[in-house]
Amino acid sequence: MRRNRRVKLIATLGPASSSPEMMERLFLAGVDVFRINMSHATHDVARTLMFNVRALAKKYACPIGVLADLQGPKFRLGEFDGGRQIIPGGSIFTFDRTETSGSNARVFLPHPQIFEAIEPGHTLLLDDGKLRMRVIEASADRICAEVLVGGPLASRKGISLPDTILPVGPLTKKDKADLECALDLGADWLALSFVQRGQDIEDARKLITTDTAVMVKVEKPSAIDDLDAIIAMADGFMVARGDLGVEMPVERVPGLQKRITRQARTAGKPVVVATQMLESMITSPMPTRAEVSDVATAVFDGADAVMLSAESAVGQYPVEAIQMMDRIAIQVEHDPSYSSIVHATSVQPQPTANDAIAAASYAVATTVKLSAIVCFTATGSTALRVARERPGLPVIGLTPVHATAQRLTIVWGIHPVMTSDPDRVSDMVNKACKLAVEQGFVKAGDGLLVTAGIPFGSSGTTNMIRIAYVDEDGNAVGGG
Ligand code: PEP
Repeated sequence: MRRNRRVKLIATLGPASSSPEMMERLFLAGVDVFRINMSHATHDVARTLMFNVRALAKKYACPIGVLADLQGPKFRLGEFDGGRQIIPGGSIFTFDRTETSGSNARVFLPHPQIFEAIEPGHTLLLDDGKLRMRVIEASADRICAEVLVGGPLASRKGISLPDTILPVGPLTKKDKADLECALDLGADWLALSFVQRGQDIEDARKLITTDTAVMVKVEKPSAIDDLDAIIAMADGFMVARGDLGVEMPVERVPGLQKRITRQARTAGKPVVVATQMLESMITSPMPTRAEVSDVATAVFDGADAVMLSAESAVGQYPVEAIQMMDRIAIQVEHDPSYSSIVHATSVQPQPTANDAIAAASYAVATTVKLSAIVCFTATGSTALRVARERPGLPVIGLTPVHATAQRLTIVWGIHPVMTSDPDRVSDMVNKACKLAVEQGFVKAGDGLLVTAGIPFGSSGTTNMIRIAYVDEDGNAVGGG
């Protein structure tokens, strides 16, 4: 399925979008990757969704990506008398280990790790940041806090600790079971919530026995503090603006979105901008002007993908929301200022053959005015390095590996296609031309650039560039 844009679209599956018919409509409207949110999907539901995605991909002979998103630890308060209390601003509130119903002055907190790690001066956010407190005293069984912003607080509401590094990894018992299920089902990307430091990724990788790629949801202030290590260790990133906007002042989120996007792009790893992109389309067929501008900003920033959450999972207009994202992306990418804005993030090649070939491909293709870059890729790494340059011409990733094609669906500008490995150079150039013609990227007389590694079939060997032209019959002229 040829898309007329470079940025990719992700839709979260949920009750509004899980039927095979709706998934097909969403795919035809522009979805490149479906997200299964393991916070809500049971393993049976995840299995059915995966089956339906793979059936759809088969029907259209087109790779479709699957991102399985793990919930991560959630911290919640105990119960309140009557289910809800009004907590007065300016009062002192206590969290303790006594398992009785709470009042407007205390509540049970069933998480010993919080008592272990919190310190005076740290901030406590309750109910998605609606209430705010500052810790005055903390011990192994009592936390006393001054209520900076009070208000109604119900039983079992969430608690976040933006200043505290908690002695917990990103995977709970449920996450470990969900991870096993996602790997078993063959998810292409695994998103980790609640990553606090680079080491968390290393720990999680020990449980990942397949080549499923790891996406870190950047949502914790401590992750921002350790961003360099996180960028170095993960395969991709999500700017998880929902949680990030609770844990940090919301006005910091736009700047952080730019920083994470820029660093991920520089590293040549895909970055997804997520949450509330077209929020009003949950109940309205038209977005607000501000939401359109928000999606456009992510596209101008050169993000690899933009994501719908509730809009496609539970909204009334999932297809319209994807169509809207598709139209915004196409419009932005045709804007006269797009190229200069997207290339304002400069990328320096690292001293590797892959980087040299990628940078050279971009330079040659634009100098000679070719019509497409075709990468033969086993692991996807050459295609990723070429995409990092954000070239203004189509990039076709040819691979014999299903998992690679599916993983590349999330990457800016890459059109992944399954093919067998060529057995010699002339076969490679012919295959590249034929597939580029078949997929509608080039026509007779157009030129294309082909990258590959010789010997064919071994990963990490990209070492060759060829230029070829397409003749009247779609065959290659030159380059053999
Ligand atoms: C987010 O916090 O923005 C996010 C995408 O994660 P979740 O859907 O788990 O809240």
